[in-house]
Amino acid sequence: MKRDGTAKGKVYLIGAGPGDPGLLTLKGKACLESADAVVYDRLANDRLLAYAKPGAELIYVGKESSRHAMKQEEINALLVKLAREGKVVARLKGGDPFVFGRGGEEAETLRRAGLAFEVVPGVTSAIAAPAYAGIPVTHRGVASSFAVITGHEDPQKAVSAINWEKLATAADTLVFLMGMENLPGIVAQLVAHGRPARTPVALVRWGTTTDQGVLTGTLSDIVERAEAEQFGSPAVIVVGEVVNLRPALSWFEEKPLFGRRVVVTRARAQASKLSERLAELGAEAWEFPAIRVAPPEDERPLRQAAVQVGTYDWVIFTSANGVEAFFAALQAEGGDARSFGGTRVAAIGSETAEALARQGIRADAVPEEFRAEGILAALPADLQGKRILVARAAEARQVLPAELRRRGAEVDEVAAYRTIIGEGQGRVEELRHLLEAGEVDAVTFTSSSTVKNLVSLLGGESEEGRAEVRRLFSGVTVASIGPITTKTARELGLNVQVEAAEYTIAGLVEALAGHFQGRAAV
Ligand code: SAH
Repeated sequence: MKRDGTAKGKVYLIGAGPGDPGLLTLKGKACLESADAVVYDRLANDRLLAYAKPGAELIYVGKESSRHAMKQEEINALLVKLAREGKVVARLKGGDPFVFGRGGEEAETLRRAGLAFEVVPGVTSAIAAPAYAGIPVTHRGVASSFAVITGHEDPQKAVSAINWEKLATAADTLVFLMGMENLPGIVAQLVAHGRPARTPVALVRWGTTTDQGVLTGTLSDIVERAEAEQFGSPAVIVVGEVVNLRPALSWFEEKPLFGRRVVVTRARAQASKLSERLAELGAEAWEFPAIRVAPPEDERPLRQAAVQVGTYDWVIFTSANGVEAFFAALQAEGGDARSFGGTRVAAIGSETAEALARQGIRADAVPEEFRAEGILAALPADLQGKRILVARAAEARQVLPAELRRRGAEVDEVAAYRTIIGEGQGRVEELRHLLEAGEVDAVTFTSSSTVKNLVSLLGGESEEGRAEVRRLFSGVTVASIGPITTKTARELGLNVQVEAAEYTIAGLVEALAGHFQGRAAV
């Protein structure tokens, strides 16, 4: 970037979509990834910030519509300033930037200042929130037009920018944004201008997110219903016959984990697969990395073992982490998959086998039962004089090597990695608060170390602390990936209610979904 003061940046006015992070466009994502600064609103999902490059400035400018954290003029000035500094700016706005997003005003300001901008349209809540509630804004034979209207304006105002008389019956479907505070006035205007009082109405709050809530009624009773339920913002108001399609077309809220907040304790680097799978089933995956994978304190033994891998009869890997660390060491020493020669390879669990396959090694044995006890059954009974290398976590259990030795094998154990306290450390108080408020539905554990670290982060080192952790977990479903993890959790006083039948991420999610299926989230 030029530093002589003539360099001019560029502002991308990006639609962040209505809430579900998957509803950002590919172009929006690419802009976020390349931005030097990200300027974002309350309605833009925070999770999108993860796409920003490391070191990008993240500037929050919006709060509730009634108390702006920053006035529009200040936001405009900020965009101009950042672009003048030569920065690429991602201006992230909820929904679509040009649908009640004041994106037009920001663009005008930039144009006046002679600065470049581009508009990246987004999925607007006006269409997406009804869609996630099972309401199409148009439908053959039911609605052939829709209008999107601001509900922000007080309908009792003497001079209105909205022509209620024409609007009330002009389009088959009317979608109001920012209208919850004025709901009684909006309803009164529509009825006064000829919309029948029996017209169906739906309110969709936090649409497309795991907090989505929907309330239906008619123009005659929706105000009363909304008051009774204290149904608040942000919500869209959908008026029209299409609302009647909801019972037949509802889909998002039918997902087995819809509305559930599920804590993911896996290491950050591995959490995404579990989080994505949970989100697919409607859950909010709340990441709390209880562990982090780090190199062993002394890497020499691992490198040594890697160089000599071809001299063993068997190498046993117990996790994908172990495989990755082992191959990193092997490659650092100038070796590759060929260094294995005739050495046979065993992998505990299909995920470990997949990690090996990525390195070009097909495992000779993948025990059906995905734990140390299982692998013993998959190996020859007589291991007399065989040389076996076990590559695994520094803090691993002793069952496997002990049994191999009992069968006559000569066993070398090598620490491929160790697990340490993860980044969840920085969110402990947030987690405690959510647990305290009963806002956690389930916590998933994918290894003994995730349990141990989470309990210790919550202060469960002492007997007293343990009791406190038990109290925090009352009402929380504890889900474990397999018997070893379950055992650790129970030893630490947790009540494990869900255990995966197949000891994999997919198995864990399936068991959790089965547990919650048919029970309404509250
Ligand atoms: N540019 C945005 C709208 C901004 S105005 C868009 O295209 O979606 C803010 C209003 O949008 C809110 O008052 C609410 O009516 C609506 N809104 C935004 N996100 C929403 C969501 N997830 N669910 C329901 N309504 C939402």
